[in-house]
Amino acid sequence: MRSSRAVTAAPWQLPRPAATGPEPRRGSEYAQLSRLIRQAGLLERRPRYYVWKIALTLAALAAGWTAFVLLGNSWWQLAVAAFLAAMFTQLGFLGHDAGHRQIFGSRRASYVLGILLGNLGIGLSYGWWVEKHHRHHAHPNQEGADPDIDISVFAFSPAQARAGAGLTRLAFRFQAYLFFPMLLLEAISLHVASIRALISPGSRHRAAEALLLAAHIGCYLTVVLLVLSPVKAVAFILVQQGLFGLYLGSSFAPNHKGMAVLTRTTAVTSFTGRLSPRATSGAARLPTSRSAASTTRSSTTFSRPCPGLICAAPRR
Ligand SMILES: [Zn+2]
Repeated sequence: MRSSRAVTAAPWQLPRPAATGPEPRRGSEYAQLSRLIRQAGLLERRPRYYVWKIALTLAALAAGWTAFVLLGNSWWQLAVAAFLAAMFTQLGFLGHDAGHRQIFGSRRASYVLGILLGNLGIGLSYGWWVEKHHRHHAHPNQEGADPDIDISVFAFSPAQARAGAGLTRLAFRFQAYLFFPMLLLEAISLHVASIRALISPGSRHRAAEALLLAAHIGCYLTVVLLVLSPVKAVAFILVQQGLFGLYLGSSFAPNHKGMAVLTRTTAVTSFTGRLSPRATSGAARLPTSRSAASTTRSSTTFSRPCPGLICAAPRR
């Protein structure tokens, strides 16, 4: 096996075979790709990077809250709210990396860091989110299996769009325009989903996670209400949580926007974009990227393009 030092290709290029001759092709296409990625060192942990990133993020977060207390009852606190929204999102990114065990190899250490960052730091249940996120990675953009495209306010396929009724159907029709405004509510939605997950029976580590989440909410509201007048406190919370949701949601949305949506009966058979239509009906794709366009050419299944940001409800 070649070491990562021997790889000279740019980060976005897979390494070429050695000059001594092409490497034998062993295993599935996925196995070959996985091997190349490991050989390039792309899955190696970078402890020094995370030590610095965690330290600087926590220092910036502390600086933000210190500025909040020192500034007092002022409308300038809305600027602090924007800064803290960015820092909350950065904590969320670190929680994501802990969930993928990019920071610690140990599952326990990753979990402890995750609940400190997620539950205590930003008021989101780390255990609930990681479980959901792993289901997303196991079945990316697959209808009925990827929880990230099972959102009541957005349709990702013609089938989901057709299932909408009343206000939901209206929202689907204009979702390309409503997308960013609705992301302002994303943080509130995640807080509510976290609390619902923790009070539901069968939740793992419920006591520790609930305690830390309650501590976050209690401390956050206490500090905000002690420093600001009621009107400014409401404005601060709306701006801080709104921008937090907008930043976080905008970061994860590109995993889905413009990507092909698979049904349970559609299998990806090639990393070059070929799809195997085993028995599909009403499947949809979202052709806003070059890879998705190549999918259209090679598949008879994904034949209903959905124009716009994400698939809109069909007109009657
Ligand atoms: Zn991930």
